[in-house]
This record gives sequence, C-alpha cells and structure tokens, in this order.
Amino acid sequence: MSNGDATVLLSHHLKALRLPTFLREYEKVAAQCAKAKSNYSRFLLELSELELIERERKGVERRVKEAGFPVQKTLDTFDFKAIPSLNKRLVMELARCEFISKRENVLAIGNSGTGKTHIATALGLAACREGYKVQFFSAASLVTTLMEARDGKALTRFRKRIARKNLIIVDEFGYVPFSKMGAELLFEFFAERYERGSVMLTTNLPFDEWTEVMGSERMTGALLDRLTHRVHILEMNGESYRFRESVRRAGKKGKKS
Ligand code: ADP
Ligand code: MG
Repeated sequence: MSNGDATVLLSHHLKALRLPTFLREYEKVAAQCAKAKSNYSRFLLELSELELIERERKGVERRVKEAGFPVQKTLDTFDFKAIPSLNKRLVMELARCEFISKRENVLAIGNSGTGKTHIATALGLAACREGYKVQFFSAASLVTTLMEARDGKALTRFRKRIARKNLIIVDEFGYVPFSKMGAELLFEFFAERYERGSVMLTTNLPFDEWTEVMGSERMTGALLDRLTHRVHILEMNGESYRFRESVRRAGKKGKKS
C-alpha cells in the first residue's frame, strides 16, 4: 500500500470511528511528537486528550442550545452586593449542581428586576457545563406548550422529552394568572416531576398569593407541598437592578450634556 492510500484509508477509518479531532490533528501531533522524541503511546495519549476535550466542549454547546435560555448570563457578571437578601454562599453551592443529582428544587422569590432570571440562567448554564440536561421555560410558555400538547400523542412525546431533563427551569411564575385548564396542566406537570427531577422556579409572589394564579386553594396547597419538600430558597427581594441601572445611566447622560 502506498503512503497516499494509507492516508485515504486512515481518514476513512477515523471518520467511521467518529474521531474528527484525531483526523484534524494527527499530522500536527505526529510532527510535535517526532520533534520531542515522544513514543507512540504518548502520541496516542495526546490525540485522545484532544478528542475528549473537543467532545466535552461540543456536549456543553449542545446542552446549552437545547436548554433554550432566553439570554446567557453567568455568575461572574452577577453583583451580589446589589442584592443583600440573597445568600451568595448558597448560590455558589447550587452552582456545583449537587442539588440536581439529589433531585432537589430551587425557588427564587422576589420582586421584579432583582436578578432572578439572571441567577436561574446562570445556574442552568452551570448545570449544562456539569453534564446535566436542562430545559428553560417561562411559566406562560410552559402552560401554552402543555395546552397545545393536550391531546394524547403530543403530550406523551412532550412528557418523554421532559423526563429526560435533569433540571427544568420555570421562570416568572405569578405574573399572569392561569386559566383553570392551564393551572391543572401545570399542577399535573409538577406532580409528575415530583422526586423524579429538579425544578427551579422563579416568582414574584409570596406563597400566600399563589392561590391567585392557580385558582384553587387545594391545588395550590398540594403544589406547594411538593415543590417545597426538598427545596433551597433564594430570597431575592430588594431594589430593582434594572431600575437602578437606568437611573444611573440617566444620571450619566445628564452630566454629559
Ligand atoms: P428578574 O428576573 O428578577 O425580574 P432579571 O434577572 O431579569 O430580574 O434582571 C434584570 C436585569 O438586570 C438583567 O439584565 C440582569 O442581568 C441584571 N441584573 C439584575 N441583578 C443583577 C445583579 N445583582 N448583578 C448584575 N446584573 C444584574
Ligand atoms: Mg425575570
């Protein structure tokens, strides 16, 4: 076999084995190893390390895309000093994602603009990086999806998809009251999730006002019972960051002119 034929075959085999990084990097790594007088196992080790790193990176990228975050926010850009009610230590611990393997829940409660969506997204991203599957919904979009999937087959498909996720984020619970059907579907959704996988929910509503969006007191009680059984609560009441930022910007503009 000529060297040319061997190269063609190697390229074919590496593709068939799904080792794209081997294929892309082997010549370069071979040259480096020859220069450094490394042996063959060193050469293989280096290539497999590169392949693993790339696979890991692609996996994170895929999980982030599938999670459907509306924006990508991380904890590095979060100013904890702006919200003294929030327990930073707890947030950092949650970012290690042990709560997901324990199937525990997280509730972030506080008024508008205090960073609840930011924190939920940042924790969701951390989970994607740790290898967990995440799905982000706004409460309204989740209810719409459930309503649309109400008939048999679509609902089964949706349930299966959800069951595969390790963490479900439900953002903005409480802004809009649900219809009776919507509330029932949402209740069923949480009931099914109970102890099977983690839920992270953000809300502007204190518990005693949940009945107003869910309609029935009995259903609200049962929902709270499940959600708060194994829960970490993030207290996020404070001054709106959004509002503060816009005041700050307006102040700057005022000074310039
Ligand atoms: P909420 O969901 O509680 O209404 P958001 O998370 O949407 O609030 O926050 C509103 C905006 O302010 C977002 O752009 C968010 O990134 C930013 N923000 C809020 N709190 C902080 C904070 N403590 N540090 C940095 N940015 C923040
Ligand atoms: Mg929000």
